[in-house]
Amino acid sequence: MAEDRACLLAIDQGTTSSRAIVFSLKGDVVATSQQEFAQIFPRPGWVEHDPEVIWATTLATARKALADAEARGWSPIAAGVTNQRETAIIWDRKSGRPIHNAIVWQDRRTAPQCRALAEAGHGDAVLQKTGLVLDPYFSATKYAWILDQVPGARARAERGELAFGTVDSYLIWRLTGGQRHLTDATNASRTSLYALEDARWDESLLELFNVPEAGLPEVCDCAADFGKVDEALLGRALPITGVAGDQQAAAIGQACFRPGEMKSTYGTGAFLLLNTGETMTQSANRLLSTVAYRLDGKTTFAMEGSVLSAGATIQWIRDGLGLIARAPEINALAEAASDDSGVYLVPAFSGLGAPHWDPDARGAIVGLSRESGRAEIAQAALESTAYQTWDLLDAMAGDAIETRTLRVDGGMAANDRFLQRLADLCGVETVRPVNTETTAWGAAFLAGLGAGLYESLEEGRALWRADRTFSPCMPESERNRKRAGWRAAVRQVSAGGG
Ligand code: ADP
Repeated sequence: MAEDRACLLAIDQGTTSSRAIVFSLKGDVVATSQQEFAQIFPRPGWVEHDPEVIWATTLATARKALADAEARGWSPIAAGVTNQRETAIIWDRKSGRPIHNAIVWQDRRTAPQCRALAEAGHGDAVLQKTGLVLDPYFSATKYAWILDQVPGARARAERGELAFGTVDSYLIWRLTGGQRHLTDATNASRTSLYALEDARWDESLLELFNVPEAGLPEVCDCAADFGKVDEALLGRALPITGVAGDQQAAAIGQACFRPGEMKSTYGTGAFLLLNTGETMTQSANRLLSTVAYRLDGKTTFAMEGSVLSAGATIQWIRDGLGLIARAPEINALAEAASDDSGVYLVPAFSGLGAPHWDPDARGAIVGLSRESGRAEIAQAALESTAYQTWDLLDAMAGDAIETRTLRVDGGMAANDRFLQRLADLCGVETVRPVNTETTAWGAAFLAGLGAGLYESLEEGRALWRADRTFSPCMPESERNRKRAGWRAAVRQVSAGGG
């Protein structure tokens, strides 16, 4: 095989679709395949996926992308996995069959359990150990719910008959024909069961959340030996050598390898991850601490902030208000807005995320006058994502972390007007890379690292290239005035906001 035809398979198992992308070793996309799958909403606030569908779509897209790549003379060397995080699955070790649907990260059914733990005063200890707030978002209470609700499950788990896992673990299990029950440190760090500084499952947390250790996977580095894909599945025993949760994979794909380097992914929501280096940094301003990656047994930490509605706000302008037919049309509409309209849209459709963490807040458009119209609302929608990013940067500034540059990706990063506004309102440079498939590329790069095709993270840095940089050009007085207007608008919708 000619070295320059070597390639890497990235499996990117997301919340609404499963994707597979084959990359050259330089990070160019060689082949891609994607399948959307059904969201299951058994009750309000409940969100499930069928694990068999997760598996079937993953396998089908991996096969398709590999076949396309091979038909054009490419040779796959290794596979990496990245995935929707926190989503919890429990399956039978013997039959491989899931005992319940996957409980998805968005699912709120375990809110009462989290409230009870908070009321019993466990919030601080959980935060100290895991970097996470007590919230149904994370996996631990989801595992416990399945064990308590499926008849006989808890006893079977205690006997070691059941396996628990986030989506990465489940896929590794299936891909290796049931040979390996593993996870990586980034996925483990989203369960509420993993002690960040000790880098292992924590006995007191397992007890607190009532999750038996017998069911949990072994926690590995992000670049490691995760076993070989069963030859019958993909026609070859491809080694799995890289794994990371989706936001961490994006940070790796964006080459955020030094303390202070930060990426923000603008999809349905927005997720900002800041590399904080090799010592765990706790935020005093309600941002989460998490594992950025673990390599050669050494953990690099990150601080994370999540915005619940980013691209979803543009979708609402499209589908809820019907002001545009396609997301990119938002720019033509916003173009006509007067620059200082005083109109703010607070997109708290399902509450506000970090740093507000206010599940009860609801959205509002404030500051309307007779001059306000569709254009001003469109502009306010674009700006709302920029202001929410600034809320996170401001929380970080409160933690003595100053940032100059934000690396962006995700669907909204295609929008130049948004990226300029983001730079202006946040007062930081925003940089879009040439390769915007950062999540899948992060998994592929880890796989290459694990397979020995790359020597160090520095090679990832060398492969990262900027496409376009947007520099702030708004006068500071205007920026401050607008920020004050945003804070006032947030105060109007949120009990603890602003
Ligand atoms: P996800 O991975 O969460 O499904 P994507 O990264 O695919 O999201 O991004 C899709 C989101 O980006 C949608 O919510 C859409 O409204 C928004 N979006 C896509 N293109 C644009 C654009 N040109 N301007 C603004 N928003 C956009």
